[in-house]
Amino acid sequence: MDFIVNVQLKFLVQLQEKDSQISEIIEKQKNLPNIIASLKVNLDKAQKDFAEEAQDYDNSAKERRSLEGLLQDAESKVKKLKERIPEIKTNKEYQALLKEVSAAEQEKSDIEEKILILLEKMDDLKDRRAEKGKIVKEEETSFTKEKEKIEKDFNQLSEILRELESQKTHLLPQMDSKLLAEYNRLISRRKGVAVVRVQNEHCLGCHMRLPPQVFTEIKKNEKIIYCLNCKRILYWKPQNIVS
Ligand SMILES: [Zn+2]
Repeated sequence: MDFIVNVQLKFLVQLQEKDSQISEIIEKQKNLPNIIASLKVNLDKAQKDFAEEAQDYDNSAKERRSLEGLLQDAESKVKKLKERIPEIKTNKEYQALLKEVSAAEQEKSDIEEKILILLEKMDDLKDRRAEKGKIVKEEETSFTKEKEKIEKDFNQLSEILRELESQKTHLLPQMDSKLLAEYNRLISRRKGVAVVRVQNEHCLGCHMRLPPQVFTEIKKNEKIIYCLNCKRILYWKPQNIVS
């Protein structure tokens, strides 16, 4: 920054650079919970899908237990009816009992059929549950990896932030207190930007064109000059200077 002749102007430019970086980092850090929440969207969905499949499977398992209970009842009913056969005295009674046995056996066979259909369905549900479980695991791995990466980046940002703050504490005591007060006033009134570069005769803060004689003065970087429109502090950076 040797192109700035006025040492106070140089401090102001340096302070603005640090403050801009600091506010950029703080903005990014504020956004961390949102970034993590958006990363979690896929995992949340996978977990929800898995829970639904698991619920379907559990419901079917419950239904199976209830059908097995009904099957036992039907089996004992058939058994009891058949036990009565030796006690039968008349053909009419015998025919009536056979009818009852046949109806009970039909009932039993209907339940068995239902159980078979249900078992097939449960096999499918089990496969689907396993598939959804696999997706949950994959999403968990990807979420953890991404989260760790982002947290690492954020920790690095915190380190940079500490470094910038420490650089500021060295810079501030060297600054003219009136100029610093002016700078702080502009920072709060001009959305965090108090010192701006001039490019192609324009203030980069408000984009107003500067009068030629003002521009000539700014190019010298010798004095503190304010934009006539936005009142920001202006400086000039030669084209060939990278930073
Ligand atoms: Zn301006």
